[in-house]
Amino acid sequence: MDEATADEIRKAKNAERARKWRAANPERAREIQRQWILNNPEAAKAKRAKYRAKKPAAEAAYVRAFIESGRAAQQRREWRAANPERERENQRRWREANREKVAAKYQRWRLTHLDQEADRQRRREALKLTTAVTTISPEMLAAKFAYWGNRCWMCGTTASQVDHVKPLTKGGAHILANLRPACISCNSRKHNRWYGVAVLSMFTV
Ligand SMILES: [Zn+2]
Repeated sequence: MDEATADEIRKAKNAERARKWRAANPERAREIQRQWILNNPEAAKAKRAKYRAKKPAAEAAYVRAFIESGRAAQQRREWRAANPERERENQRRWREANREKVAAKYQRWRLTHLDQEADRQRRREALKLTTAVTTISPEMLAAKFAYWGNRCWMCGTTASQVDHVKPLTKGGAHILANLRPACISCNSRKHNRWYGVAVLSMFTV
């Protein structure tokens, strides 16, 4: 038996033994492999590139399995937690390169959260004038509008605004009881007056 053959047999035996051990200890094998990759990043990269070139289908299957097992997501989470600044920078760069996507996403968000956004805006405005501010859900406001037939409580045309019956500037509260649907025209004419006063001035203009 010549030298080369003996060496080959020994290598094959070792490889077979290692394969069996890996099959019997998958967790431990993965951990050892992970450590090796961490300690030999360049060699690991080269090895993967070689494998990828030799077995593209197996590589694709491996990547798929890696993603589906949730390990890819887990690894990304860990990396983000360990590199918060680089993650922020990556996100900033991505947003810059995908401005249209970001704008479209915000637009979609706005469309689905329009009612909440409108209520937040009203609360912000109300808070400048009074501390009596409550959160009014879109459902509560919709019920109120429905009670008034979605019509302006002053003139009866289609309402598109929310009127504070007792104006915030006159000490009115931002509470459901003080809100009624109004049309743009009446709401702007009424402005910051009580209804009675507003009606009188409507006759005098
Ligand atoms: Zn009106």
